[in-house]
Amino acid sequence: MLNDKYHRPLHDLRISVIDRCNFRCRYCMPEEEFSKKYTFLKKNDWLSFNEILRLVKIFVPLGVSKVRLTGGEPLLRPDLNQLIRSLNNIPGIDDIALTTNGLLLAEQAQKLHDAGLHRLTISLDTLDEKIFAQMNGGKGEVKNILAAIKTAEKVGFKSIKINTVVQKGINDHTLMDLVEYFRATPHVIRFIEYMDVGNCNHWDMTSVVSSAEIIKQIRQKYPLKELAPNYDGEVAERYAFADGKGEVGFVSSVTQPFCGSCSRARLSTDGKIYTCLFAENGTD
Ligand code: SAM
Ligand code: SF4
Repeated sequence: MLNDKYHRPLHDLRISVIDRCNFRCRYCMPEEEFSKKYTFLKKNDWLSFNEILRLVKIFVPLGVSKVRLTGGEPLLRPDLNQLIRSLNNIPGIDDIALTTNGLLLAEQAQKLHDAGLHRLTISLDTLDEKIFAQMNGGKGEVKNILAAIKTAEKVGFKSIKINTVVQKGINDHTLMDLVEYFRATPHVIRFIEYMDVGNCNHWDMTSVVSSAEIIKQIRQKYPLKELAPNYDGEVAERYAFADGKGEVGFVSSVTQPFCGSCSRARLSTDGKIYTCLFAENGTD
């Protein structure tokens, strides 16, 4: 098993299968930076599925048992279901997850489930159409994402994670709508502190709403009980609604960084390994 110099084991590999995206979230790929002039990778610079599979097979004996497919927007990568099917055949890989903005999910959900995708995370920052458009560059509608979640349920994804990035003065006054919508469902909403991901998203601390503030806000209406992590190194703090109506999570990367228990490595679309989300350079 591979431990890094801080004695952290490597369990989890995040694979970016494409650097492009059909959204332009202001906190991630703001339109003015990622405009038509921006040079995304050329298709022949993407790792092929065979190259990804070869690398995953090398990572398994080093400790990796979980794979998360991400991007850019992973559902833009053609034939992603075929990659998932092949990942499923690798002995030692026991968990395959996908993070998506959900825009192309309704049409692909059945194929992804049939290929053996275990878990889905869908990003959804608000239920308010205007704010949603403002946050993602006007590229999609809330109603499509909610419909995609319903389709994913129908094809058999049981408990879906919903990722909500919280920005002060932008969507923080709409969080209770999301709580109301996903409470009493098998799905778990996770509020994520807005991070500086180094891509000119004009991050500053005054735009961050801490998890503590959101917990306080939710508790005014729904008492919460803290839950133990599901496994070592889980990034989200988990809380149950005290009335038994489900769960809510908080990812406090800014106010309570969890670097000490991080067990992730990242593989970029063009085949570089990064040991940290904030690393400037990867290893080819
Ligand atoms: N396009 C997919 C999506 O949005 O779900 C997958 C890639 S996206 C980079 C992965 C996750 O990172 C999403 O849930 C997104 O909301 C989150 N994210 C992106 N930029 C962020 C930021 N500046 N702060 C916190 N979370 C961020
Ligand atoms: Fe695209 Fe996801 Fe980034 Fe939004 S957060 S721009 S959907 S990659």
